[in-house]
Amino acid sequence: MNRSMPPTAAQVRLFQEVGQRLDRKGMIAANDGNLSWRDADGTILITATGARKGYLGTDEVVRIDLNGELLFGKRPPSSELAMHLAILRVRPDVRAIVHAHPAIATGFAVARRPMDQCVLPEIILTLGSVPIAPYGTPGTDELPRGIEPVAREHDVFLLANHGAVALGPDLEEAYFRMERVEHTARILLVSQMLGRTHQLSGEQVSRLLATGPDPQPDALPCRVDSAVPGADSEAARIASMVTEVLRARGF
Ligand SMILES: [Zn+2]
Repeated sequence: MNRSMPPTAAQVRLFQEVGQRLDRKGMIAANDGNLSWRDADGTILITATGARKGYLGTDEVVRIDLNGELLFGKRPPSSELAMHLAILRVRPDVRAIVHAHPAIATGFAVARRPMDQCVLPEIILTLGSVPIAPYGTPGTDELPRGIEPVAREHDVFLLANHGAVALGPDLEEAYFRMERVEHTARILLVSQMLGRTHQLSGEQVSRLLATGPDPQPDALPCRVDSAVPGADSEAARIASMVTEVLRARGF
């Protein structure tokens, strides 16, 4: 396989399709976010810098190697290239990365509230928990350095004061994980607005994991400790303030 060959029409279509879904679901604005995919020969297809993912042109998916060298394409690769490369290096099992700025999940990243409590069975079985990687200036080495330890352990995580990242065996699965994290954030926000987020007990989580496809009842993927006293009412107070602001802005 020629390492500098252009992406196939089917590969570009998949990038376009995922970009459109991110756009339609409101998980990006303007030219936010970026997508990458590890091809069979180890080279990487990635969106070009500044590309609007909801309207990706056929020349806006470029090919690079694991050192970031441009192999094919007229446009430079995404400015978040270093983040994608760092993840692909520490996770040889990962083929695809979706980075977006979904509003509610990013709100959790700004509030520095990881989604790591055992609350929703579906999430416990699919994502485990969603931690927050430390803040790093976008486009610099700070970001990938902070991300590596988190990416080793998690398929989905938030970037402090920035957005969310989802990893997967292919672009579609990585996209669905991004969709799932935003949907979870929405549910958690509502439960916090209602004043209480009940956690499942350790026993309930163990039983759930024992019935899953890959039973590991001893290794709980999320926190089951009870919340800090008063945290729920504090969360509800903050959530109602957030709601007011969102409503005032027509969100
Ligand atoms: Zn970003």
